[in-house]
Amino acid sequence: MSEMRELYQQVILDHNQRPRNFGTLEEANRSAEGYNPLCGDSIRLQLVVEDGIVKDAAFEGEGCAIVTASASLMTEAVKGKTVEEAEEMFREVIELLTGDPAEEAEVAPKLGKMAVFSGVREYPLRVKCASLAWHTMHAALENEQDAVTTE
Ligand code: ZN
Repeated sequence: MSEMRELYQQVILDHNQRPRNFGTLEEANRSAEGYNPLCGDSIRLQLVVEDGIVKDAAFEGEGCAIVTASASLMTEAVKGKTVEEAEEMFREVIELLTGDPAEEAEVAPKLGKMAVFSGVREYPLRVKCASLAWHTMHAALENEQDAVTTE
């Protein structure tokens, strides 16, 4: 567990100092916004989806270390995936963060670095930060017009 904790801190630090895919995409054809008022997180996500594949992803916004790291990892993870694969990852991440521990053990190996976020499940406020980017990605793929909010 302490090893996981250490890895978690490394990932959060790394992705905060150098968020991947931070910015905007001129050719984006899907976008969504997500808000977590309890923490003050706000992100805007853009995707380029062509032929059922997420060709590119970028985000911008302001938020805590967890939401920034999670959004950075999420954009890395979904790039090059089919829409179905990205949606499957969304479901797996939500299970990792909110499901029971048996499910966590099953999905964690599939999620790469995102698996380090399993530690936040004990902190409901942090779960909202960690899941916001994924809910926003899900909304962008569904082309929902309303902004995502954790409340
Ligand atoms: Zn937050």
